[in-house]
Amino acid sequence: MSFQGAGNRLKTPVGDQNSSKTFRVLPRDEHPISRRMLSENALKVLYRLNKAGFEAYLVGGCVRDSLLGQVPKDFDVATSATPEEVRTLFRNARIIGRRFRIVHVRFGREIIEVTTFRGRPNEEHDNNLAHQSEQGLLLRDNVWGSIDEDAIRRDFTVNALYYNIADFSIHDWTGGLDDLEHRLLRLIGDPDVRYREDPVRMLRAIRFAAKLDFDIEAATEAPIKEQASLLLQIPPARLFEEVLKLFLTGYGVDTFRGLHRYGLFAMLFPETDEAFSSLPWAERLIEQALINTDIRIRNDKPVTPAFLYAALLWPAVQLRAHELEQEGMPAVPAHQQASQQVISRQLQHTSIPKRFSFPMRDIWELQLRLPRRKGKRAFQTREHPRFRAAYDFLLLRESAGEIPPGIGDWWTQFQEVSEEMKREMTLHIDDADEHDSTSAKKPRKRRRRRLPSS
Ligand code: ATP
Ligand code: MG
Repeated sequence: MSFQGAGNRLKTPVGDQNSSKTFRVLPRDEHPISRRMLSENALKVLYRLNKAGFEAYLVGGCVRDSLLGQVPKDFDVATSATPEEVRTLFRNARIIGRRFRIVHVRFGREIIEVTTFRGRPNEEHDNNLAHQSEQGLLLRDNVWGSIDEDAIRRDFTVNALYYNIADFSIHDWTGGLDDLEHRLLRLIGDPDVRYREDPVRMLRAIRFAAKLDFDIEAATEAPIKEQASLLLQIPPARLFEEVLKLFLTGYGVDTFRGLHRYGLFAMLFPETDEAFSSLPWAERLIEQALINTDIRIRNDKPVTPAFLYAALLWPAVQLRAHELEQEGMPAVPAHQQASQQVISRQLQHTSIPKRFSFPMRDIWELQLRLPRRKGKRAFQTREHPRFRAAYDFLLLRESAGEIPPGIGDWWTQFQEVSEEMKREMTLHIDDADEHDSTSAKKPRKRRRRRLPSS
C-alpha cells in the first residue's frame, strides 16, 4: 500500500502539537475505499446528515481497517451536527453517555455511533461541558468544535482519518496516512499529557498494536510502564468493557503478552499477576485460554465473558484456596471463601456483572466435582447446565499443566459412550482419583539455598 506522493497538501492544520504535520486530502481515485465496502446503514446516516447541511465523515477504526484491507468491526461517524440535531434527524437515535455524549443510531442489530466534533475547552466553559481533574484526567469532554480540532483530540494518528461523504475523499490532519504506511501507532500530541487525560489509551495502544500488527512509536511507548498505575483511576465499569475488547475480539493472546510486558495486566488483575510468580502453570493457563478464544472467534463460534473471567481469576483463586487449606480449612469451604474474596477484590478494578460472575463461580465449583465420578455423581454432574464449560475448563487446566491429564479424557469418553457403558465407567474409579488431582498443585516454595559453608 502506498499513499506516497498522492494527495494535495493544503495548509498547516490547527493545533500546536502537530503543527509540523501537513493537512492532506486523498481524492477518491487515490485510495481504495469504495462505498461497496461500507455499511449501508452508515452511508444512510452520512447522506442524511449531509443533506441536512451538516459535515459528515466516517472516522476511526472503520477508515483505518478499510485502508488496511481488513473488514471493519463497526462504523463511527463524526459530524458538525450536535447530538440534539442528530436526534431530530433520526427516529431511531438515542443520546448516550455523560462524560462523552454521543448518539447511537440503531438499525436492527447494527448501531452507528455518531459523534459531534470535539473542540478545545477554554476557561469560559463551565464544568457541565468540559471538566478535568487536577491530575489531568478528562472527566467530561462535551465542547463542540471543528473537524481539525476534533482530529487532534483523537487518540492515535491512524484513528484520525476522515472519509468525507461529500466527495469520498480522505482527510488526514495528523499524519495518519504516513503512519499507516509505516505500520506505526503514534499518539497525537504529547503522550504524557494524553495518557494522563485518559489512561485507557495505554490499553488501546497495546490492543491496536496486537490487532494491526503495528509497532508502537518510541515516544508513544516510552511512558507506558511508568504511567501504568494511572489505570487505577478508571471506573471499574469502563475497565470491564475494555477488558472484553482486549481479550474477546480475536487477538487476545498477543494483547495479553503486550499488557503483561508493560505492567498493564497487573493494573487490571493484580491478584492474578501476583500468582504468576508462585504458580508455574498460571501464565500458561491464561495464554492457552486466550489462544482457544482467538481460534473460536476466527471460526465464528460464541465466546463468553464468564469463561474468560473464570480463567483470568483462577490462579488467584487457587493461590488463596491453598493458603486457606494450609490454615486448616477443608477444600470445599476453602474454595468458596477464596472465590468470594478474589471476586470482591477484583470488583475494585473491573466490574463483573452478575450474569457473568454467577456462571463463572459455577465453572469453578464444578472443578471440585468433576473428579468425583463414582456411582450417580458423574450423571448428576453431567446434567449441570454449566457442565460443558466446566469440562472445557478442566481440559484447559490439564493442558496448562496445572493438573495431570486423565480426568479430562475420562469425561471425554463418558460423553461419547452408550448409557450402559457410562454406568460401567462409573464403577471403575479408584478412590484416590476421586479427590487429589483438581486441587491446586502446591505453590512453588521459594526455598532459600543454603550458602556453602566456607
Ligand atoms: P475498533 O472499533 O476497531 O476497536 P476504533 O478505532 O474504531 O477501533 P472505537 O473505540 O470504536 O475504536 O473509537 C472510535 C474512534 O474514536 C477511535 O478511532 C478514535 O478516533 C476515537 N477514540 C476512541 N476512544 C478514544 C480515547 N480514549 N481517546 C481519544 N480518542 C478516542
Ligand atoms: Mg470503532
